[in-house]
Amino acid sequence: MKIKEIKAKSIITKSALTDYVINPYTGCMHGCIYCYARFMKRFTNHPEPWGDFVDVKINAPDLIPEKTDKYKNKTILMGSVTDAYHPIEIKYKLTRKILEKLIPLQPDLNILTKSDLVLRDIDLLKKFKNLLITFSLSFLDEKYRKQLEPLACPSERRIKALEDLFRAGIKTAIFISPIFPEITDWQEIIKKTKNFTKEYWFENLNPYFSIRHNIIKFLKNNQPELINKYKEIWAGKSDYWSREEKKIKQFCKNNKLICKIYFHHKKQQ
Ligand code: SF4
Repeated sequence: MKIKEIKAKSIITKSALTDYVINPYTGCMHGCIYCYARFMKRFTNHPEPWGDFVDVKINAPDLIPEKTDKYKNKTILMGSVTDAYHPIEIKYKLTRKILEKLIPLQPDLNILTKSDLVLRDIDLLKKFKNLLITFSLSFLDEKYRKQLEPLACPSERRIKALEDLFRAGIKTAIFISPIFPEITDWQEIIKKTKNFTKEYWFENLNPYFSIRHNIIKFLKNNQPELINKYKEIWAGKSDYWSREEKKIKQFCKNNKLICKIYFHHKKQQ
């Protein structure tokens, strides 16, 4: 893993996803094989593959203004193309320092993570009036989780962290993303977490060309009988996602859960 300290020009960036995003790092040590953020590599000079480097925006906290109303009632998402709590954060504490600077500005803060390191910052997080911590969770089977999200926190630890945040009075959600057809057991994920959150987001496995090779390799090693099914879905020859979407909506309605669906049915050939 190549770690490089860099000086960023800006750190709070306007975004199409939400009002603003903050990414304290470029690159992500979690190394998820399906990572959609790998397009970011083209904005770096790294010859290493995505997942093998991290640029640490060492001056990030200094780039946050001391005083401004600009971000009040605006949503800032931390971790759109990195995980603000991936392992290098233990050493640099950039996310923690950024939180300290954000408290007086009181944005509506959303943090999306796969790590229980977020618990380290509960003292600061409690100082935000509008806060949502969302855990991504797709694989309860640890054997699969290790292959698909090698350096991310085990799912059981994420669930424990969800419980701890709930007990600390912090609002949480679960992002079941990506849903791997026939592998991601979203009903079981909900069963294991519904005592600690009522909000669920769902996203299907995107058919980006850049990740298909990794997915097929994973299936070959684990469930080769699913390869044709995935190819049919990617080619738009299956109504799998429409059926799944209906099931999810009905399940959430029956269980009185808040449900947000981010499905993309477009085929890519
Ligand atoms: S945690 Fe998110 S940003 Fe990091 S490798 Fe995984 S999918 Fe990519």
